[in-house]
Amino acid sequence: MTLHPPLQVNSQRLLGDIDSLGGIGVDENGERTRPSFSPQYQEAVEWLIDRMRAAGLRTRIDAVGNVIGRMGPDNGPIVMTGSHIDTVRNGGPLDGSYGVLAGVEVAHILSENKLELAAPLEVVAFADEEGAYLSLFGSRALAGGLAAAEIETSRNWQGTSLFEAMDAYGFDPERYREAAYPAGAIQKFVELHIEQGPVLDTQGQDIGIVNGIVGMRNLNFRFLGKSNHAGTTPMDMRQDALRAAAEFITRAYTRFEEEGEQTARLTFGAIHVKPNMGNVIAREAAVRLDCRDLDDDRTAKIVDQLESIARQVALHYGIDADVEYLSHDRAAILAPDIMEEIGRAAEGLGLTSMVMPSGAGHDTQVMARICKAGMIFVPSSNGLSHHPDEWTDPQQLIKGANVLLHTMASFLMAKKMQPQAATR
Ligand SMILES: [Zn+2]
Repeated sequence: MTLHPPLQVNSQRLLGDIDSLGGIGVDENGERTRPSFSPQYQEAVEWLIDRMRAAGLRTRIDAVGNVIGRMGPDNGPIVMTGSHIDTVRNGGPLDGSYGVLAGVEVAHILSENKLELAAPLEVVAFADEEGAYLSLFGSRALAGGLAAAEIETSRNWQGTSLFEAMDAYGFDPERYREAAYPAGAIQKFVELHIEQGPVLDTQGQDIGIVNGIVGMRNLNFRFLGKSNHAGTTPMDMRQDALRAAAEFITRAYTRFEEEGEQTARLTFGAIHVKPNMGNVIAREAAVRLDCRDLDDDRTAKIVDQLESIARQVALHYGIDADVEYLSHDRAAILAPDIMEEIGRAAEGLGLTSMVMPSGAGHDTQVMARICKAGMIFVPSSNGLSHHPDEWTDPQQLIKGANVLLHTMASFLMAKKMQPQAATR
């Protein structure tokens, strides 16, 4: 039995920090836009460094712009937490920022209570997670998985290359390898984030224990027929690519539903038609597929089935079909022992939780390649994110931060966490 209440984050301070950071990079129209390597981002970085120092962290900015605060012993494998403080255009106040600020708050609580750490703690804000130039840039550099060519070829929407942007901000892009940690330097990484989907909110759960970040395949299914006059070509003498594409989409969704898929996500979100004119039979229709699941074998199986449906449909209409493989990101499986620790922390705090995958990409998927990684979700009101109305009940934000605090403390301290005043 514990006589003393468990440690809690300082909710006023954390919510105040979220408010303050949320106010940086807001333009005259009220839109929050803070892409990495912008003046607005720079302002946020300087503010964050102050907050990190106030929390008792020693700070540095690495070779690619990751902001890192550290406390605890000088040596030994690091326990790391963090996320990102860059935003999409007109983004919300919580995506990324919440996880970074909760990490800083965890550090603040540990230092205020003068708790001795058995392992070094690092709190990180990764550069360009949102991919203004290159998605997951900072974590990929830190994990050592970046090629020099990517820095030269990645450009923002205005055409500025990542190389030029880094150079303009006083970084030497050629030294990006210096950001990479040696193998084994980091033992664990935990990221706290809003869910950005409706599951926790709908199910009334406090905490999501993320078991993995889904893999994603992007493909183009192309149907190739023949253009002809819409008025003079009899219906039974057409090679209509768009009609074939329409049937393909319908049959694909129907098959997917018949198979009772629970976890996979299938989306045909774009279609390109040539010549795309109202009075001409389409000679080409290309349909874009986005297919995601935590199980890479399952997405492979779904893609196989769709290819066979595309062939059948093309055959039926006497036209050709081909498939273009655009991208394939493998799923990241998160560490079971970190999941257990998150579950224990939630239970100890009297919170409800559920295990779930992340359908969106995060720095955690990169960190999972070099260390044990885990992720904590809190509910997103109405599942809304990448949007200015992104919102989470402040009480839920505090609950999530407390779960992060207790999870991190269990990794950072040899014995059970108690305020120093409570130990004899
Ligand atoms: Zn994010």
